[in-house]
Amino acid sequence: MATGYLPADGIEGVVVHLAASYSSLTELITLPEQSVEQRTIHALKIANGTGPSRRGILLLGGVHARELVNPDLLVTFATRLLQAYVNGTGLSFGPVSYSKALVKLIVDTVDLFILPLVNPDGRVFVQSPAGDPMWRKNRDPNPGQPCKGVDLNRNYDFLWSSGIGTSGSACSDVFKGTAAFSEPETRNVRQLLDSRPNIMCMADVHSYAELILYPWGDDDNQSTDPAMNFTNPAFDGQRGVHGTGYREYIDPGDAVWFATVGNDVRDSIAAVRGRAYTVQQGILLYPTSATVHDYAYSRHLVQAADRKVMGFTIETGREFQPPWVEAEQVIEEVQAGLVTLVQNAMCAAENVLTGTTAARHVDAIRKLRDEVVQPSRAGRALIALFEAHGTEIQRAITAKRVKRADVVRLVNKWVKSARPNGLATAPVPAEVVDGVTSLLTQLADGASPAFKRAAKRAQRDLTSFRDQTVPDGLKTLDEKHR
Ligand SMILES: [Zn+2]
Repeated sequence: MATGYLPADGIEGVVVHLAASYSSLTELITLPEQSVEQRTIHALKIANGTGPSRRGILLLGGVHARELVNPDLLVTFATRLLQAYVNGTGLSFGPVSYSKALVKLIVDTVDLFILPLVNPDGRVFVQSPAGDPMWRKNRDPNPGQPCKGVDLNRNYDFLWSSGIGTSGSACSDVFKGTAAFSEPETRNVRQLLDSRPNIMCMADVHSYAELILYPWGDDDNQSTDPAMNFTNPAFDGQRGVHGTGYREYIDPGDAVWFATVGNDVRDSIAAVRGRAYTVQQGILLYPTSATVHDYAYSRHLVQAADRKVMGFTIETGREFQPPWVEAEQVIEEVQAGLVTLVQNAMCAAENVLTGTTAARHVDAIRKLRDEVVQPSRAGRALIALFEAHGTEIQRAITAKRVKRADVVRLVNKWVKSARPNGLATAPVPAEVVDGVTSLLTQLADGASPAFKRAAKRAQRDLTSFRDQTVPDGLKTLDEKHR
């Protein structure tokens, strides 16, 4: 048996202990359903403060029983983040370090939900001398069937009926269960997403293969034919083959976001001790259906009221149960990736403006973005610039290459100039546009080549807003780039 790993009740014990020790910064969430073998399951929310505009990020682990590293990894991450916040320090993983300002920003502005052990029964079975160290599924007795267990990462409601990468046989390691959400453990995850609608990004941490996977898993991505998608029954029976025929529609902006953020996570992991993780679409590992990252990301396409959840699956390390000395290294490097993931998922405007005199304008800016900028093609390109390079922008400000006070002054000036009509109807003063242009120059200095190119383009586009309203400026740009 692999030693060094916490037992299932030890993982649970850390969660309960952290909730008690850091009671003002955490919430102990008791999931509504016990496991099949009636174990209580807890998630931990880490957040200083509350508020409707906080973004939520969900980290899952321990879905597959034999993948022992990841629950230890997630409770270690929770512990270190809380310790760093309380002690007023940054976080270091080998040579990679994150500032105390970032730690503070994460805990002060994000709701971080950590569910380290989705499948406690499976872990107990794997770690029991009488069990099976290579058990993958939960411990559903599957009444009337010859074998136990459902593959929890084939039990979500995403093309569950398709059979892609799943089995209807209870003895299979990828048995999908008797229905989508037939298992209490997957219903718990659904309930977490339903009850915490601010969750907009998630990572399900598995092992092994050193991969960072993103949607879709059922077929190759395409961004040209929106009608060719998983909700369209005309394509039933055609999905699930890599390289031919059917391809799954993905919003082009989302495709860029997944690749960009995935690469950033990959780079952070590599910087710790050189392990080169690969970022790829889920299907490139193998075709799947009913996995959690596809389910989470598909929710908003099935029910418009649901928030879009950007879902990753991270496959850590090179074996299911590495010797503990190696497990510690995996835990170290992947934590760096998780900090970077959280950083990327944060709201750039909020990050920059929190704690300043311009903080009260974040909601108005967000409203302008959603209602005026997002519907325009040029507007989406500008948003994509800031979302794709949010981490770089934050790093530049943290490193004081750009002064936060300069950003704050510009925002305040802009909002003041727009009174009493509001940001969507008042012309943007030329001096505000020029100020933003000059900030972009400062940001680009020392940034990546991709950011430099994007900043140049944005600077060109921004001239259309000088003394024009935002809608007029966007209209000019949409016509120019037609
Ligand atoms: Zn797994």
